[in-house]
Amino acid sequence: MIKRTLGDMAVMSGGTNSKASLPGTELVGVTTDSRRVQQGQLFIPLVGEHYDGHDFVQGAFASGAGAALWQSDREVPKELAEASLIFVEDTLTALQRLASSYRQELKVRVIGVTGSNGKTTTKDMAASVLAGVFRVHKTEGNLNNHIGLPLTVLQLDETVEAAVIEMGMSDFGEIELLTRIAKPDIAIITNIGDAHLLQLGSREGIAKAKLEIASGLTPGGILLYNGDEPLLRSGVQALGLPESIATQTFGIGSDNDWSAQNVELGADASRFDMVSKQDPGRSIKGLRIPVLGQHNVANALAAIAAAMLLGVPQVRIQEGLSGLTLTGMRIEPLRAANGALLLSDAYNANPTAVRAAVDLVAHLSGYRRKWLVLGDMLELGPQEAELHAGIGEYVLPDKADAVLTYGALSRHTAEAAAKNFGIGEAGDQPVIAFEDKNALIEWLQARLAPEDLVLVKGSRGMRMEEIIQALQRV
Ligand code: ATP
Ligand code: MG
Repeated sequence: MIKRTLGDMAVMSGGTNSKASLPGTELVGVTTDSRRVQQGQLFIPLVGEHYDGHDFVQGAFASGAGAALWQSDREVPKELAEASLIFVEDTLTALQRLASSYRQELKVRVIGVTGSNGKTTTKDMAASVLAGVFRVHKTEGNLNNHIGLPLTVLQLDETVEAAVIEMGMSDFGEIELLTRIAKPDIAIITNIGDAHLLQLGSREGIAKAKLEIASGLTPGGILLYNGDEPLLRSGVQALGLPESIATQTFGIGSDNDWSAQNVELGADASRFDMVSKQDPGRSIKGLRIPVLGQHNVANALAAIAAAMLLGVPQVRIQEGLSGLTLTGMRIEPLRAANGALLLSDAYNANPTAVRAAVDLVAHLSGYRRKWLVLGDMLELGPQEAELHAGIGEYVLPDKADAVLTYGALSRHTAEAAAKNFGIGEAGDQPVIAFEDKNALIEWLQARLAPEDLVLVKGSRGMRMEEIIQALQRV
């Protein structure tokens, strides 16, 4: 984590230190959470809708903070008259400036990851592969926004050689801010989906917003994007990138710079060969990743390509992939109490992600019955009904045997799916819309056989993991 004097941190954050503070004081790390202050840290009081971090500055000093930022528009209480403060116009902007200056001073190679889906997964994969060669730091969990990203940068030790940093967004301009702080050497765009359609208007808008990541690339940097997505290809053309920035594509299609061949999607792992179009010597045969679904093969291609571009030798790549563990609830194979295979993908859902999961189920064979348990996809905006119906149309009887939906919006999924599935045996219809989670669980428990497979997916707010947990219990 950042180690600088108070005087340096004041300059880096664009502030001025209070008279009482000693510029030579050594500060180690920053925090925005007064409950987690460690000795000698810089406390940054953020101002939120429901709280003002300035209320906790005194407490932060009591817990050992070495200094604190202070927004100039707030009066300093007399208790803090002698405290080591750095005055800034806005504490959030100061946090971002501090991170940006620190990044500039570091020698670290940065991989930035954005996209509608697959950011955390690709980040975890890239970090695993890079760890064979470099000292690596990656974004913890999902700390990918305007606060989490600068904090991630400030966590980097000066000895870290490669950092994999996730960048999330929900509107235009956000990725631009993040990428200018992180200044990636390699910028990955995993894909374009329908998430945040509400704010961005169209899929073209989403592509444009993700492509902002290129604006922070260091000279000589590489934009590595999903070439299976035509909107990204045309968006890159329209960007008119400077010559100092190279672009490369990855994807399942063989026209990509990095593509996959002989893809085998199993219920325990996925296998594929990676093909480098430019340099067949860089192709790798017989890769195995312990994660499921074609979308994860695409994520892995991005991670491997980035690692190879940073010089990770082929022999280290498979080792790194074998040790991979993903952050929870992302298409995880679990067992029901009766032994049936449960694919838990309850972390989140939007149309692209649901289709990817349905594709995986379609690929898996050898099960008595394949059940799709689909919950509502939230935050899709005015097109939400059509987008749910679209999923229903996508789910054909050759992909799964039965569809159970949960939630009011998912009724549209069920209605559209029902058109493709005939009428089942009495009392055992292949498509049923539930609005009561317990009713769904009971219905499924009564019919689930040990040789069955169940995919459970829905938006975070639908808490679909409760269905998984119930099936694991009894
Ligand atoms: P968030 O925006 O919440 O940070 P994220 O982009 O980090 O999400 P992950 O957490 O990696 O994404 O994956 C979330 C879900 O997205 C997965 O459970 C999976 O269903 C889906 N997903 C992951 N990668 C892809 C992909 N390349 N294409 C489509 N769907 C994907
Ligand atoms: Mg994420």
